[in-house]
Amino acid sequence: MSVSNPSMIVQDIGSPCVGSTLSRPCRFDPKCDTCLVLTPSSHDTATALEFSGHGCPVCGGTDLRLYLDAENPDMTHEGIGSSRKVFSPGRVLRCAKCRHGFRKSPPTPAELSELYRRMDVEVYEAEHESRVQTAKRHVRLLSRWASPGRLLDVGCASGVFLEQALRFGWDVAGVEPNEALVSKAARRVGSQRLWNTTLEEADFAPESFDAITLWDVVEHVVDPPDFLRRCARLVKPSGTILFKIPNLDSWQARVMGRRWPLLLPEHLGYFTRSSIRASAERAGLEVVFFGRGAVTFTAGYILLRAGQHRVPLTQFGYRVAGNGFLGRLRLSIRLGELYVVARRASTNHQPAGDLS
Ligand SMILES: [Zn+2]
Repeated sequence: MSVSNPSMIVQDIGSPCVGSTLSRPCRFDPKCDTCLVLTPSSHDTATALEFSGHGCPVCGGTDLRLYLDAENPDMTHEGIGSSRKVFSPGRVLRCAKCRHGFRKSPPTPAELSELYRRMDVEVYEAEHESRVQTAKRHVRLLSRWASPGRLLDVGCASGVFLEQALRFGWDVAGVEPNEALVSKAARRVGSQRLWNTTLEEADFAPESFDAITLWDVVEHVVDPPDFLRRCARLVKPSGTILFKIPNLDSWQARVMGRRWPLLLPEHLGYFTRSSIRASAERAGLEVVFFGRGAVTFTAGYILLRAGQHRVPLTQFGYRVAGNGFLGRLRLSIRLGELYVVARRASTNHQPAGDLS
């Protein structure tokens, strides 16, 4: 155990897990049900960790573990998004209290906004047809929890989900900081429905939406409770907030370890059911539903992404099949994401059960 600050404990990853019955150093042993870390890449690096942050961004907990000690270069616009040229999820810490994982030393909100404005979207757009399938799945989920009304999609990207929601009778609005994506979204739903900015910079009146959707968004923010609180203010008292987040307790994250495809440079937070519930409660929201998320992509895109994570044989597979018939086959896969439905805490609700 190394202590770099009297009020802040960072356990190095050569130590046994707290609560574990194992006497040897924890190496993600499946017998250890309190395991919070991945196999160490370097014990020396871990013990040399100097932590000077402010604790867990969700619960404020100060008992932190080094979950992943990857190379930790500065985030650049070339390292984020589907077209990324360089790859490192950075140094990821994990809270022992709520199990939340988070990137150490995240960029400031202004730096993040600038990164997303400059992000290359070429590969993202190449998967358009796959994203339509995922968007239809999201609209079906939304329809189970809310009747059509005014909808805000934060991080709306190229507007694929907005277009589907519009067809289902929603009065849609979208926020997206990347200008290239907004111009594509404008062709789908009209520029009058779009705000080329971040939610923090947009100026919406309180309680002006019946539903807010956050697909692959909350893991990109520095302070999840603060971000959700901002959303809670914008939704009507009877309104609904839906989102999808990476689940660090999923079997995919546990089995794939440092090759888990959702360990990404631009992901600042990795949730668990307890940490997203705690984030929601601090925002004045109540979680009313958890479901396992799925996404649709072509086999070629899946091989490309897996190759970025150095999953064995996938780079070879992408060279062989990436652009051919096999590479164009469309697959629905589960990567360990979690759907969450939340409502303002005082609202009565009728949960529709778990989504399979
Ligand atoms: Zn925590």
